[in-house]
Amino acid sequence: GSHHLALLNERSIEAQGDYESLLFEGQWHTNRSLFERSRRVAGGLRDLGVQPGDRVVVLMMNTPEVFVTYQAVWRAGAVVTPVIFLQTPPELRHILEDSGAVAAVVTPELLPLILGSSEGLDLTILVVGEEAEPTPGTTPYAVLEAADPLPVVPRDDDDLAALLYTGGTTGRSKGVMLTHRGLWASGAGIHSVGEKMGTTRSLLPLPLSHAYGLIVAVGGMHSQKQMVSVMQRWFDAPGWLSLVQEHRLESSPIVPSMLAMILAEPVEDYDLSSLVSFGSGGAPLPDALRTEVKERIGAFILEGYGLTESSAVVSASTPDAMRAGSVGKPLPHAEVGIFSPTGERLGAGEDGEVWVRGPGVMKGYWKSPELTAQTVVDGWLHTGDIGHLDDDGYLYIVDRIKDLIIRGGFNVYPRDVEDALMTHPAVTSAAVVGRPDAEKGEEVVAVVSVDPASGVDAEALIAYSKERLARHKYPREIIVVDAVPHTSVGKTDRKAVRALVRE
Ligand code: ATP
Repeated sequence: GSHHLALLNERSIEAQGDYESLLFEGQWHTNRSLFERSRRVAGGLRDLGVQPGDRVVVLMMNTPEVFVTYQAVWRAGAVVTPVIFLQTPPELRHILEDSGAVAAVVTPELLPLILGSSEGLDLTILVVGEEAEPTPGTTPYAVLEAADPLPVVPRDDDDLAALLYTGGTTGRSKGVMLTHRGLWASGAGIHSVGEKMGTTRSLLPLPLSHAYGLIVAVGGMHSQKQMVSVMQRWFDAPGWLSLVQEHRLESSPIVPSMLAMILAEPVEDYDLSSLVSFGSGGAPLPDALRTEVKERIGAFILEGYGLTESSAVVSASTPDAMRAGSVGKPLPHAEVGIFSPTGERLGAGEDGEVWVRGPGVMKGYWKSPELTAQTVVDGWLHTGDIGHLDDDGYLYIVDRIKDLIIRGGFNVYPRDVEDALMTHPAVTSAAVVGRPDAEKGEEVVAVVSVDPASGVDAEALIAYSKERLARHKYPREIIVVDAVPHTSVGKTDRKAVRALVRE
């Protein structure tokens, strides 16, 4: 097909010429060297017996080899299954069994995890990087790199390019089937935002093993210009600040919790004058953070919205089209409609479920036709998010349907309550959930972390929110904790928060 991701990569390499494109832990890599490595690794995978359509798990923190492996897998016609390394052994076991992966690429520190999770499975374990002594039953990645280069194995546009497991914050994880065409289209969407911004030097702190990081990487493959990326193995705020200053970086895609960690540092001590924009997505951006960025850093925040099931990005604000509180307009590849519970299309300003249509919509949940049929109906992906469009087509996300609290018959959006709490100067993080309640059905409960030096307690925070929120909304109980539970990609972990609240 004409939307083969390996062909996209070849095209950009040709247009860009050879140059130093990636800086990782003090070492520069050229785009051509990464490309050449991926051609050989593709051959190595083929030599190992990896067939078109086979799943290859990538279980690594960010390294150049993650990118090389993705390209190689696509080149070989196979499917990448990126896995965040923070999984517990049973979670990883589920992914390995469910996906039926034939191979897994890992770094040495993750060997115990994968060995402990793959007993009895027919899985080739490929180890990136130096090991003092090769572990029995594994194959060094270097073997792949020594193979003969492989030409692109043809695939159809609707063939799978990635199988991503989602469900970090709810229930059992399920495989989301994303196609070459879908990732291509979504990547083009995100790339167009960067083009408008005119930035060419970026810092990538997002894990490439998450849908958001993956689509940022695919977006980069659309560039005909010489772009420079500095990549972090795993986000840390002081490291992020030093890299922006040292390399005069202009943009960085982040999730809101990263922004909060950056702002907890003495940002004024760094020269961040090169920084033009943040891309924010993956979770709602609290207003308080937006304001603080404006005051203390000054860069644009281009907020985007999407989900794994939509190949990550659906809408994004751009420098010429941004509105307070909005996640921008739908990008060209995504049509957005707002629908009532009975499936009627709603007008501007009316809240309803956000539905998305277009090439980025997943092919379905892996091996789950019934769940797929409930989630994608007549081409419309039912996102489970509540939102509205304004008269000019800007999208606003209000909350998730499943997070909605119904207290005494009144709807309470946790996000409203969290935003109100976050305006308190001592509050560093807030999560609001419903707790089953005999009288009200559900009661509004908040779990917050505060600056310990502030001396602020739960009672003071309840009084504070009572002044700012309607009677049915303000939390009747607030639990102060050292750290509000977050998932590995920085989202509020509502499962964990609910458990905490029920204790
Ligand atoms: P699960 O759905 O099981 O909780 P997950 O949270 O890991 O899994 P993702 O696909 O990573 O799933 O997250 C997508 C969701 O993140 C969206 O449906 C939406 O609720 C939320 N989200 C993403 N971007 C934004 C944004 N800019 N504003 C508000 N919410 C957002």
